[in-house]
Amino acid sequence: MIGFFGGSFDPVHYGHLKTAVAIKKELAIDELFLLPCKEPVHKNDLHFSNKQRLEMLNLALVEFDELQIDSREMDRKSASWTIDTLKEIKANYPNKKIFLIIGADSFATLNTWKDHQQLGKYAQLVVLPRANSVQDARKNSTVYFAKTPLIDISSTQIRSILKGKMCDNLTGLLPDSLINYIKKI
Ligand code: ATP
Repeated sequence: MIGFFGGSFDPVHYGHLKTAVAIKKELAIDELFLLPCKEPVHKNDLHFSNKQRLEMLNLALVEFDELQIDSREMDRKSASWTIDTLKEIKANYPNKKIFLIIGADSFATLNTWKDHQQLGKYAQLVVLPRANSVQDARKNSTVYFAKTPLIDISSTQIRSILKGKMCDNLTGLLPDSLINYIKKI
C-alpha cells in the first residue's frame, strides 16, 4: 500500500508532516510520498520557488524519515492535474493499493478538480480533518475519513508571519531546520 499527499507545501509545516505520519500509521501504509505541485509557469502565486519548496521538504524529511518525496510534478515542464498524475502513478504501481490523501478543506472543493469523479478509479481517497472544515462522511461513502489529530497550522499562517518578519513566531509550526533555512533566504 502506498500513499500520496499532494500540496503546494509553501512551505511544508507540522500540519502536513505530523498528519502524514499519523495517517501512514492509521492505515498501515508502507510508503507515504509528499507530492509537491509545480508552480504554474505563467503565475507567481507561490511565496517560495519550486527549488526552495523542494529543499525545505528534503530538510523536513531529515526529522521525518518515515516519509518520502515524489517530485514528479515538479520535474514536469508545466503544472499538472491530479487526475493525470494519479493515472501515471497507477501505471507505475499497477499492483499496489494507492491512497490519495487530502485535507478536509481540499475535499470541500473537490468538485472543482478536473475529472474528480474519476479519481476513485485510480486511488482510495483519504480525507484528513482540518480546523474550520467539516468532515462530512455523508457526502461520499467511498471516501475514508481519517481519525488523525487536528493540527491547526497552515502555510498561509506561516507566510503571514513572514510578512511581518517575525521569524521567532514560527517556532512549533515547522521544524527548526526550516526556520533557519527561511531566515537565511
Ligand atoms: P495554504 O495555507 O497555502 O492553503 P496549506 O497549509 O493548506 O496551504 P497545502 O500545501 O496547500 O497547505 O496543503 C496540501 C494538502 O495538505 C491539502 O490537501 C491540505 O488540505 C492538507 N493540509 C494542509 N495543512 C494541513 C493540516 N494542518 N492538517 C491536515 N491537512 C492539512
